[in-house]
Amino acid sequence: MPGEFALIDRIRDRAGRRDDVVRGIGDDAAVLALPAGHELVVTCDTLVAGVHFPEETLPADIGYKALAVNLSDLAAMAAAPAWCTLAMTLPDSDDAWLDDFLDGFLALADEHGVSLVGGDTTAGPLTITVTAHGLVPAGQALLRSSARAGEDIWVTGTLGDAAGALAQWRQRGPASAKLRYRLDRPTPRVQAGVALRGLASAGIDVSDGLAADLGHVLAASGVGARVDLGRLPCSRTLADHFEENRRWELQLGGGDDYEICFTAPAANALAIEQAMAALDLPATVVGQLEAEPGLRLLTPEGGAWSPPATGYQHFQGGHA
Ligand code: ADP
Ligand code: MG
Repeated sequence: MPGEFALIDRIRDRAGRRDDVVRGIGDDAAVLALPAGHELVVTCDTLVAGVHFPEETLPADIGYKALAVNLSDLAAMAAAPAWCTLAMTLPDSDDAWLDDFLDGFLALADEHGVSLVGGDTTAGPLTITVTAHGLVPAGQALLRSSARAGEDIWVTGTLGDAAGALAQWRQRGPASAKLRYRLDRPTPRVQAGVALRGLASAGIDVSDGLAADLGHVLAASGVGARVDLGRLPCSRTLADHFEENRRWELQLGGGDDYEICFTAPAANALAIEQAMAALDLPATVVGQLEAEPGLRLLTPEGGAWSPPATGYQHFQGGHA
């Protein structure tokens, strides 16, 4: 079995290298050149086998998703991703597993021009931690705390597919490959995040379900919201597999969507639609921010609706 250093060599041989990487993998730490006038945006996410992905998930999908969830956080800050580090805890050293993992990880890194510049390699239960670094022109990061009452609430793409896949997987019944793909290969909305600079007021990526994540924006901004359930963007596949009430549960309380939920003044709606159309990414207004605190969910008939479950929380027994 290859040792730690052989694995690191294997990773270094395959990692791409941007011009602004002064020193990448191989020294005690990476040295990166920062462009003038920009702020560094840093995020870190851990995936634990059996908690964040089913144990039998393909290594290429684990590699892809480990980076995707971090790029999603950068996108929600309107940052352009630049560099990442990879801390891997592996049950054993297995070249074939590592190669497959890197296939998924580096394909996404290359797609977005992200260089893997360092990391750590240890033995133990399968756990992958990625730190991603992005750049944003000074002062232009999209925060959770700057939403204002009266603004529109937008969501990119569609919601609920990944939660639908997880629900099907838990029931061990018929499963949709399309939904499963959205769970295993979420698309980080990198270009959308950058395009929203100057147009959106506040943003967050939807990783824990829209209700929980929008709730963070509301709390940070000191506002409330009304969301119209009939406007929640839903894929045809999700509609084919789940009836309406169950869909709302999946869309609001599920998670793993990695879409961006953002707010913007109504005056920016046309410019936002044009920016998203240029990216071939649908974006939908799902409600409005209101001065009264709290999240009000309205059915198409105008009745109040309460979700049976809220977002996932570690140490709190997961879903209710
Ligand atoms: P140190 O003991 O100084 O932390 P390591 O032996 O852990 O050094 O790492 C050697 C080099 O390999 C460092 O540049 C480190 O960033 C890089 N590295 C280690 N593990 C990984 C990994 N899983 N992915 C990318 N780079 C890694
Ligand atoms: Mg180390």
